[in-house]
This record gives sequence, C-alpha cells and structure tokens, in this order.
Amino acid sequence: MKPTHAEHTHLPATMKLAQDWTPDSWRGRNAMQQPQYDDVDALHRALDELRHLPPLVTSWEILSLKRQLAEAQEGKRFLLQAGDCAESFADCASPLISNQLKVLLQLSLVLVHGLQMPVVRVGRFAGQYAKPRSTDSETREGIALPSYRGDNVNRVEFSAAARRADPARLLLGHMHSALTLNFVRALTEGGFADLHHPEYWDLAWVEQSPHAVEYRAIVARIADAVRFMETLAGEPVANLSRAEFYTSHEALLLHYEQALTRQVPRQWGWFNLSTHFPWIGMRTAAIDGAHAEYFRGIRNPIAVKIGPEVKPNELMRLIELLNPDDEPGRLTLIHRMGAARIASALPPLLDAVRATGKRVLWVCDPMHGNGETLASGVKTRRFSNIRSEIEQSFDLHAAAGTRLGGVHLELTGEDVTECLGGARALCEQDLTRAYRSTVDPRLNYEQALELGLTIVQRVRQ
Ligand code: PEP
Ligand code: MN
Repeated sequence: MKPTHAEHTHLPATMKLAQDWTPDSWRGRNAMQQPQYDDVDALHRALDELRHLPPLVTSWEILSLKRQLAEAQEGKRFLLQAGDCAESFADCASPLISNQLKVLLQLSLVLVHGLQMPVVRVGRFAGQYAKPRSTDSETREGIALPSYRGDNVNRVEFSAAARRADPARLLLGHMHSALTLNFVRALTEGGFADLHHPEYWDLAWVEQSPHAVEYRAIVARIADAVRFMETLAGEPVANLSRAEFYTSHEALLLHYEQALTRQVPRQWGWFNLSTHFPWIGMRTAAIDGAHAEYFRGIRNPIAVKIGPEVKPNELMRLIELLNPDDEPGRLTLIHRMGAARIASALPPLLDAVRATGKRVLWVCDPMHGNGETLASGVKTRRFSNIRSEIEQSFDLHAAAGTRLGGVHLELTGEDVTECLGGARALCEQDLTRAYRSTVDPRLNYEQALELGLTIVQRVRQ
C-alpha cells in the first residue's frame, strides 16, 4: 500500500460533485439489513467515539488502487479479491492472518506468472465483520432469536444476550480491523512478501498437496527469472521484496461507514477511510436504497454484487447513479449468478453495458450463487460448480466482446473441509472433519490453488 503523490486535489472540470449528497443522506432512504439497536444513546456514544478515531487507510492509497483498477479495466491487470466470508474477532491472530496472506501471495504468483500481467491483490479483510442474512431470526428447538449478523453486531452463540445488537462492538470492529491491517502492513512491507524467498509463504500442512509440485515448478521458474534479471542489472531489482495489498469489505452497516467517512486536506470530496474498496452486497443493491445513496457520494473505487435477478435496465440505472462521469477505475461489477444460471443471466447484462461503452471492471464471484444445503443441514459449495462458473464466465465474456478482469473468492489458509470436491475429492463425510466457518463455506488452500491454475489454463487457451 505505497502512498503516491497526491492527485485530483481540485475537482476536475468534467466531474460533477454528487448532488444533494451528504455522508448521512442515506438516512432518508430505506436501509436494508441494519441491526435494531435497543439502546440508541449507546449507539450515538459509540459513533461519536468512532468519529474521533484515526482512519484505517489513506486517500493516497485509495486513489492508487483506483488507478490500478482503471488499468484492470483496460486489460492491463487482473484483480484477485479474496478472503474469509466473514472475519471474526477470535480469528484476529497471527497464524490465521499470515496463513491468509500466504494463500493470497501464492495464488497471485500463479496468476501473475500464468496471465503474464500484474495482479491487484485485495483482501476481504481488516473490516469484513458484518454479514447480510436471508432471515432476521433463527429458530432452534422452537426458540427464535435474532440472526447472527457478524462480530461487528452481535455474537454467534445462540442465546438472547449474545444475539443482542451491541453498539460497543462497532468500536471493537474498528480496533480488530486496525490490528489486522497493522500486521498485514508490517508483514508485506517488512520482507515476508519478498519474491526472493517464496518459501516464507509455504503452509506447513500442505507438503503433500496434489498441486504443490506444479506450484513449486512455477516458483522455480520465477526464481530463475529473478536471478537472470538481477545478474543482467548487476544489482537487486527494486520492488521485488514487497507486495501491495489493499483491503475491502461489504460496507453494510451504514452508521459505521458514515463515521469513517472523512474529508482530507488537499483533496476534494469525501472518502470512506475504513477500507480501500468497499462493496455493496447483492441484498442491499436496490437503486433507491440507502446503500446506493451512501456509495454514490464517496470517492473510493467501489464494487457492486450483481445477482441473477438484476435486469439490464436496472443495471444501467445503477451505473449511471454510481458513476455518472464514467470515471476510470471507479466501478467494479461482481457477478455472482451460480453455475446453473450464469449462461442465461449474464449475457443480457454484458450486452447492455457494452452497448453504452461505459467503463466497468467485470469480476466473477463463483462462490455466492453456488451455495447449497445438504440433507444433514450443512451449508456447502461444490468445487465443480465453482470451477464451472469461472470457466463459463470466461466464455461468456469472450462471446460478448467484454473482458473478465478478476475473480472474487472466499478462501482460507487453514486446513478446512467446507467445500466439496477438488483434487482430493472431498466428500460429504469429510465436511465433518474440519468445518470451521460460521457463515459461508470457503475454499481451502488446495482448492484455491487448483482454481488459480484453472484460471490460467482458461486464459491461455
Ligand atoms: C458475501 O460476499 O459474503 C455475500 C454475502 O455476497 P452476496 O452479497 O453476493 O450474496
Ligand atoms: Mn459469503
């Protein structure tokens, strides 16, 4: 996250400031998926405190990511956005964070090498603490309690006390985001991401992985290339010892996001300084809703999840609202259709956007349209469906004359068994062995690497 020179300090003549927008203008709209706080004074105290705390990221970093996303829109970079479905305060710990980084670094290395282009690395981390839910309450043995909405809101245990929405948790969310980001920054700036030492990113438990051989061959080829360049240059090549990472989360809790929305010296407009790259979830993407209203006024690059029910004219209105000036790098559309529906749902959207010539970055999330619940009640996803959605995405974009510029994945560096299939053919019984997610099932390291290799094969075809 390298700060660069300040830019856009003046409002460019071609840009319109969002009309009638203020950081709290979302309050006049319908805000979906917000917790019900019973103690409003406590909420205001927590928000006052949040407003005084330092931000988590800077406007320089945000604008530098926006430039990179603009390059991805031009086909010069590929976006890898990945991490847990939801972080938890309990998992804010050294090995979990560093293992997550290891997987992201390995996966990005496979992509850089295979696609022969730089990869923009964005973690679903340092703030992914709030979850949208399909139902407001959960019933167990005849008892109904509010749904768990992520550690920023309440606790996962099934008791009335744990499920109460507690505003003090917003401050804990900010604190855990800061702790995570501090560690990520220290690791990535301090040598952990050094391309001369990719062995730092090895995960202890994957020695015998079916894809380890292929991965090591890639690493060996890269090490050769690095040695060659440095021999040629007669000195170490700059920038190979660090890696840029950016943060993202679903900006669901608008009170929290507003408290971190700031103006900064020598910049025009407002930035959400809780993350570099916030996104609007599928359930909260209504054009007249509070989330779209909040997002249209911030200067961050933003993303929207697009589900199979979205109609071309609705998408066009959303694009017009969120990026009226067709600003490069501003808008990413993450489609998440499901392997069974993508072939019918995606092409009309691709055609409509292409016909307008508007700039967007198209990204495939092959996870959220492929959830299923087994007879045992366990939530899972099949690797074969995840892979199929990615493969179909590449084909559908090629047919429409558009470009798939990135992927959005849920994965973990831990040895979990949450998604079925993959090279080790995980079956239903395996899911009982190491199922740890309290929300959506994630790819484990091997499945993630397999997907990376699939992407490379597809692009090279
Ligand atoms: C998610 O990304 O965890 C999520 C809930 O996605 P979506 O909004 O696409 O359903
Ligand atoms: Mn999820």
